[in-house]
Amino acid sequence: MCSMTERITLLAQEVLNLYAELEKCQSNLFSCPQGCRICCNTPAYNIEVTILEFLPLAIHLIDSNQSDWIERIERSVDDEPCVLFQPDMSLKPEGGCLFHQFRPLVCRLFGASFTVRKDQKQVLACRLLRQKVQQSIHLLPSAQDYNTRLISIDFFLAKDTYGINTALRKAVEYAGLYYTPLYPARQIKSA
Ligand code: SF4
Repeated sequence: MCSMTERITLLAQEVLNLYAELEKCQSNLFSCPQGCRICCNTPAYNIEVTILEFLPLAIHLIDSNQSDWIERIERSVDDEPCVLFQPDMSLKPEGGCLFHQFRPLVCRLFGASFTVRKDQKQVLACRLLRQKVQQSIHLLPSAQDYNTRLISIDFFLAKDTYGINTALRKAVEYAGLYYTPLYPARQIKSA
């Protein structure tokens, strides 16, 4: 394995470890109603994501040779909803995210974390959930802590945010440039 491939594999695994830890922390908390699509159904420029958050999905797509998906991602624009979003409930009743196990940090934090503004804890949740989530605010993980930990994994790949489709495209391009898949595909453990 070349050293850049090794490094990217390691970074992706560290990101997935962070996601797994967050998932554990959120496991007993109130979660989104089954099948709800409201937050994803917005132009991609409303959802700001870093390249690093999508590195695990980018290398998963390359490892599993999903060229159709890579082409769709290359064509995606931020005026449209997230390219991973399936709006049709009949095609995916359990929820609208087609790569839910690889969704970025921002999608994991929204709905079950808090941030601090003007010395006040505020829940990060949609207006439908805000009141319920507020009751568990003492149990919620800090979004700022998780974002800081993400940046500490790789500052260069986590310092800038983009609309979600641009971030995914850049992650795929970055992995395409510096990552060489091994066959048979290695397994990275998703959150
Ligand atoms: S990555 Fe998944 S959860 Fe996040 S906006 Fe896209 S479809 Fe929704």
